Amino acid sequence: MSAQQLLEGVWLVGSGTHPHALTDPHDCHSYLVWDGTGGFVVDCGTGLGSDTWLANIGSVCDPARVGGVLLTHYHADHAGGSAAATAAGLDVMAHPLAAKALLAGDQAATQLNRAKAAGIYPSDYTLAPANVEPLPPGRRLRSGGIEVDVVDAPGHCDGHLVFLWDGPEGRTLFSGDCVFAGGRISMQAIPDCRLDLYASTLIDLAFRDIDILLPGHQTLVLEGAAAQLKQAAASFSRLIPPPNVLT
Ligand SMILES: [Zn+2]
Repeated sequence: MSAQQLLEGVWLVGSGTHPHALTDPHDCHSYLVWDGTGGFVVDCGTGLGSDTWLANIGSVCDPARVGGVLLTHYHADHAGGSAAATAAGLDVMAHPLAAKALLAGDQAATQLNRAKAAGIYPSDYTLAPANVEPLPPGRRLRSGGIEVDVVDAPGHCDGHLVFLWDGPEGRTLFSGDCVFAGGRISMQAIPDCRLDLYASTLIDLAFRDIDILLPGHQTLVLEGAAAQLKQAAASFSRLIPPPNVLT
């Protein structure tokens, strides 16, 4: 497997489904933003495919020059590879709530125990504690010529961040499990999935003139994302949750 270039400056370096960047079937999409002088990785998968994931990053750039791995949230399919990432010398950053849970390898707070009981992960899968640095929302991060805005986006779970980057092909949203193609959302019957906060998050994102939507799963939206985000916000404005990506 290898990295799949999506846009100028953006590669898919991990995925549970994409045939050209497959790392492990349980993994989310993981993205590398890189301009030749610096960049960031968004999310790191479960850790079950970390060797391939690290090799994919290395096929595009020198991992030592990457500014860090930015985690959207603490669910294992996005953050379980944190320990492998730090062992490889990468800095890993997440919302302070997520960083605390990942540092402790807390399988209750991250809802891994529930997800395992539901059969979503292998029965012997565990969350390795990882030295994840707290990344408060509202910051702008810089690595080489790449600048990324860190945006608070609760709703799918507590401590969810999304990342905005103004790239050569337009304003790009790395949305994790916050919003998907078609303006769908990800609602689960877990204690920290909060519909009222989800509505505020989507209504805020709809006003940010986003062109490109790169979510944590399923279809990538390489143009015209604003209309799809507005669809989700309009639904929430009528107090009706948008369609759920999970069925
Ligand atoms: Zn999630």
